[in-house]
Amino acid sequence: MTSTIDTTTLQDWISRFAAAMTEKREWLTELDSAIGDADHGANMARGMTAVVEKLGAGAPATIDELLKGVGMTLVSSVGGASGPLYGTFFLRMGMTAGAVTSLDGQALAAALRAGLDGIVARGKPEAGDKTMYDAMAPAVDALDAALAGGADLGAAVSAAADAAAAGRDATLPLVARKGRASYLGERSAGHLDPGAASTAILFETLAAAVEGAA
Ligand code: ADP
Ligand code: MG
Repeated sequence: MTSTIDTTTLQDWISRFAAAMTEKREWLTELDSAIGDADHGANMARGMTAVVEKLGAGAPATIDELLKGVGMTLVSSVGGASGPLYGTFFLRMGMTAGAVTSLDGQALAAALRAGLDGIVARGKPEAGDKTMYDAMAPAVDALDAALAGGADLGAAVSAAADAAAAGRDATLPLVARKGRASYLGERSAGHLDPGAASTAILFETLAAAVEGAA
């Protein structure tokens, strides 16, 4: 039974997310070329590569230091909408986690919820707008529900990853109401949202890092 996540495991999450962004770069770009400007893969790969380079310069001692560093690097290295949005997510997550070296399930859920709230404050996405919110909100809700039902951390983050993937898939028929894709109107329907796709990977890699640490 895994009950806490420590700084090293969170750092492993960031490394896994960075590797996945490089690996899925073409796919994310393909998704963004259908309903945006074909740069989501490049944006995420560039931002997360900068994050890994910065982390290589010295491992952060606390969780807030780690996550705030990730957020600031993303804000400063990614030009697209996703940079400030993911940047705010990690900054808020770090602020809520605090200067600690491990989080239990409730504390992790509270930090992720704060990150989600940061995205809402920044981009004003609502459910069904066809954005990263549509993958992230169900993931954070599923994490809360699993923990409330007595699931251990591993099972809870795995439920969150499943919910994020379902949320990503549910963006397919939606007409975009936020971001560049909204300029297409009805023509945005029939394509997955690129940001929802990267967010599903964010939660998939979190589940993998927690599983890897068990
Ligand atoms: P840009 O749209 O500037 O080219 P990216 O292509 O990197 O930036 O990111 C696009 C993704 O950002 C979209 O697929 C969507 O998920 C997300 N996004 C865009 N605008 C918003 C918003 N206002 N709120 C939440 N997410 C948004
Ligand atoms: Mg784009």
